[in-house]
Parts: sequence; structure tokens; C-alpha cells
Amino acid sequence: MAVSCVTTPSDSLQPTVSLISLGCPRTLVDSEVYLGRLKQHGFRPVEQVEGSDVAVINTCSFIQESIQESIDAILDVVELKRRGKLKAVIVAGCLVQRFKENLIKELPEVDGFVGVDGFGQIERVARRVLAGKRRTWLRFRPASMYQGLPPRVALTDGHYAYLKISEGCLKGCSFCVIPKIKGPLSSRPIEELLDEARRLVAERGVQELIVVGQDTSDYGVDRYGRPRIAQLLADLGRSSGAAWVRLLYCHPRGVTPELIETIRDVPTVCKYLDMAIEHADDEVLNRMNRGITQARLLETIEALRRQVPGIALRTSVIVGFPGETEEAFERLCQFLQRVRFERLGAFRYSNEEGSAAFRSADQIPVPIAQDRYDRLMRLQQAIAKDVNQQWLGRTLEVLIDEADPADPTLFVGRTYADCPEVDGTVYVTSPRPLHPGELVPARITDTYEYDLVASVESA
Ligand code: SF4
Repeated sequence: MAVSCVTTPSDSLQPTVSLISLGCPRTLVDSEVYLGRLKQHGFRPVEQVEGSDVAVINTCSFIQESIQESIDAILDVVELKRRGKLKAVIVAGCLVQRFKENLIKELPEVDGFVGVDGFGQIERVARRVLAGKRRTWLRFRPASMYQGLPPRVALTDGHYAYLKISEGCLKGCSFCVIPKIKGPLSSRPIEELLDEARRLVAERGVQELIVVGQDTSDYGVDRYGRPRIAQLLADLGRSSGAAWVRLLYCHPRGVTPELIETIRDVPTVCKYLDMAIEHADDEVLNRMNRGITQARLLETIEALRRQVPGIALRTSVIVGFPGETEEAFERLCQFLQRVRFERLGAFRYSNEEGSAAFRSADQIPVPIAQDRYDRLMRLQQAIAKDVNQQWLGRTLEVLIDEADPADPTLFVGRTYADCPEVDGTVYVTSPRPLHPGELVPARITDTYEYDLVASVESA
């Protein structure tokens, strides 16, 4: 996902900086902090990359696809520099942390490289590259969680924001290189997170706080000796001032009775949970080193559905993991038909150098993995369509994201069951103007696979 930054009118003598943020919401928060630091140190954030003095590309390197997207973005920006449309290029983030040596060698036109924890360095690197000096800043043992309350320049619409509670991960899923890129779990203090949340609500008018980390279920284990995600979520729900608090990236092993109670009992905590299962066949789960069985997954999902009526569960799965037999894939499909996730993202296995599974013998040929991906998405599309029909005729609270520029009576929003960027949308008709960030009750008049149509009753 490429995002351009927001223009802030300022003194034209200041050097200008543009930023492209790729990858996940955790990187997006880092990008907001980078811009905040640069602004604090005299740079003027601008929207357009072309014509800016310094262009920063905050990259992703989770899987091959995101690596390619990052390289394409870098080459596009380098081309602008070659044509004299900007002065200096800085590449930051996960691609740098993972492939520093290669990048420095193969991208001589790039002026600066910053690893995943360049929070305290970005402005120095920017000044040096503007002075024509090549500069690299990277730590092999990154402290990839920024400290304190750094200023952030918003890269999301004003009414929602991501709150990054931790970085790094203690789990060791065999397909994943994130612990190698981001290091071990590093959790921020609860008090600091509450301060940041209150500031986002007070200063940016945030209505929806989206809680992110690599594995939010382990939040606090490194700092408090035990998981504190349930308490943090409750505190954010009760005292941040946000109307909605949404939890993402929760490992199913970390769904405790305490966490379920918090989602059930705190009104401002969305009845929504993003909980990646990755697979449902015991042999594959074991080879993925997920540390959980299908039976335990089922137990957790049934407990969530029993104790939190109407909860919307989002998950993600990988097909084509080394050694995945047709029978194992079938067991995954049967499991999805049984638990009927409201929201699901699927990925074909990406064989990542540095991951434990990289040298696995029984890699699945791409055509077979692609066929399984297509079959699974068709299955989920039918489930999603069916699940969405339950809303017909009901009235739901909708958070308005934007107005339709072509139709003054049409607006776009989301329900509690829709996370921005990844889930469905509600198309809302209203006799009166609605504003981004407004929460309105709307009656569902039609349903599609992933989206809903609704109407706001006249006042
Ligand atoms: S929980 Fe697993 S998949 Fe998620 S970041 Fe940690 S190691 Fe990677």
C-alpha cells in the first residue's frame, strides 16, 4: 500500500520531504513518526514526491511480493532523481534491515539507507544526503520500537489511527522472517500508550483506534513478565476517548478468558478480533511451528462466539506450505466451512530465505498452490456472502469514512466488523450531509459478498 503524506503549509525556505509508506500498518506508524521527527527538525512534509527535496521510501520485505513492490517504488523515485525532479532519496525500513549490503551495492543512486529503527536518526541522514553525502544508519540488533511520545504526521484519514503497542516477536513461525528483521518483542509502557491514544483523540479527532503490533497477544510479556493485552485494551476503551478500539494481529494462542471478557464487556472495544490461524491441519500447523492444534483453535473460536455474540472474526491463512497434502488442504477448507470467519485473507506460501522452512524439501509447485488459493477464495466468497445476509433489515452503527464526490446523498463507511483497508465497506444513502468520523445508525437494505448497502433514516 503506497501512501503520500499530507501537505502542511510552512516556510518555503525549509527543505521539503515526501514519504511513500509501503507494507503494513506498523510501518505506517513508523512513517508517521519519521515525518514527525523530520518536521520537528525543520523539514516541510509535502504530498508530491516529484519536486520534493528529499523522498523517503519506507519499505516492506515480508514476502517476495512486497519486496518486489518496494524495489519498484525505489526505482520509480530514483528515476525522478535521475531526471532532476528531486534532490535525494532515502530508503528505510524492512527491506534495508534485511538486504542492506545488496541494496547499497545495487542502488548507487540511493543517497541514504535507514534500518527499522531509524527514529532518532532520520533527520540527520536527511541533512547529510541533502549536503551530498551518502549515509547509512542501521543496527543489526534493532530496537525497533520507538520510545516516548514522538510527534506523528497523520498518514490516515483524521478519524482513525493505528496505535503501535509493540514491535518484534517472540514466536518462531517457520515461514516468517519478521523476528529476524524486527528483533525480539519490545512492548511500550501502558501509561505511554494511553497518553498517545488520548493525544490522537484530542489532537487528530480520532474516533477509531486500531491496536497493532507483530503479535499483540504477547504485549507486555517482555516488560511486565506476562501478557497485559486485555488490561491495555480495557484501559484504552475506558479512558482514551475513542468511540471504537479495534484489536489486530492477535495470535490464537494468546486469546485468554481475560481478553474475551474485555472484548465482551467494554462497550467501546469493537466486537471484532483479527486472529491469524494460518492453517487448520495439525500436521501443517506443527510444521509451521504455530504451537496450536485444530482442536484448540476450534475451542478458542467457539468460546469467542459463545461469550461475545455477534463478534466478527478476521483471520488469514497460507496455502501451499511445504508438505501440505491435498488432504491437509481439504481439512483446512472443512474447518473454514465449519467456523465461517466473517473476514479472511489468504496467501500463497512465499519461500523466504532466513525462515526456518526455507530449506524444506517438499515445496509445493506454484500451479498447485495457486489452484488451492483460488479454490479457498471461492469457498470464502460464498461464506462471506452468506454471513453478510444476516445483516439485512438490521440497523447498525456506521462510521463514515468519506462522501461520494459525485452524489451528495451517498457516503462510504464501515461497521464495527470492518477494519479500514482490509475489510468490507458500507454504502450509505442519507437525506442529510454526513461527515468523515461521524457515527450514524443505518438500516441495512442490501448485501453483497463483502459490502453492505444502508440508508440513514431522515432525522
Ligand atoms: S507470530 Fe509468527 S507470523 Fe506473526 S510475526 Fe511472529 S513469527 Fe511472524
